[in-house]
Amino acid sequence: MKYVYGPVKSRRLGFSLGVSTVPYKVCSFDCVYCQLKETTRKTLTRKTYLKTSEILEELRTFFTHRPKDVRLDYVTFSGAGEPTLHRGIGRILKAVRRMSPVPVVVITNASTLMQERVRRDLLDADIVIPSLDAVTQDVFEKIDRPVGNMRIEDVIEGLKQFRRVYGGKMWLEIMLVRGINDSVPYLELLKKTADEIGPDRVQINAPVRPPALPWVKVPTKSTLSAAKKIFGKKCDVVC
Ligand code: SF4
Repeated sequence: MKYVYGPVKSRRLGFSLGVSTVPYKVCSFDCVYCQLKETTRKTLTRKTYLKTSEILEELRTFFTHRPKDVRLDYVTFSGAGEPTLHRGIGRILKAVRRMSPVPVVVITNASTLMQERVRRDLLDADIVIPSLDAVTQDVFEKIDRPVGNMRIEDVIEGLKQFRRVYGGKMWLEIMLVRGINDSVPYLELLKKTADEIGPDRVQINAPVRPPALPWVKVPTKSTLSAAKKIFGKKCDVVC
């Protein structure tokens, strides 16, 4: 299989079947903490990067031949870049839901949610895990290094608009990088914006795997505890 892998065990999602919808590494961001290393094709253009029919064929093959004793908790769209850049993702999500009752998850950097079409495409996911690492333009550019002149306020607005129409679970992921977005005042700004978006859970993460850039450091334990306290009951530290 080229586009479907696993099931692999993950900290948050148990045993999860991964699905790639874009080749390595097509992404609208080039995050300094990315474990996949540097983005080779930074773009916001949505297109059929990988053939929809081939992705669906692999999923069909998996579900047809899946041994009954193989545990599977989720089908997860993430892969080697930003999955929502595949313009057929809505069709793929609908098809996978017809193939299996296993809940479907989309992990996204949220950069495309400002597009109404993407918000509609993701309505079929059971869980969407969007990320939000910054609430100010300077930190956004420092951590996520977005394509072109993308504005963080547009990303946040896309998240809010998506939350208004989406009936599934939204787990907002915040990656904290030491010295960049982990000060108490900045955590409070992130919390305020998270409250305005209204996710079901907030997941605080840290770059524990080797990052794209060597200067990227994990926040201290006391910072992670402070973050948990600031974000409150809805928050899990997942690193
Ligand atoms: S959005 Fe995800 S895939 Fe893209 S650079 Fe950031 S961490 Fe890597």
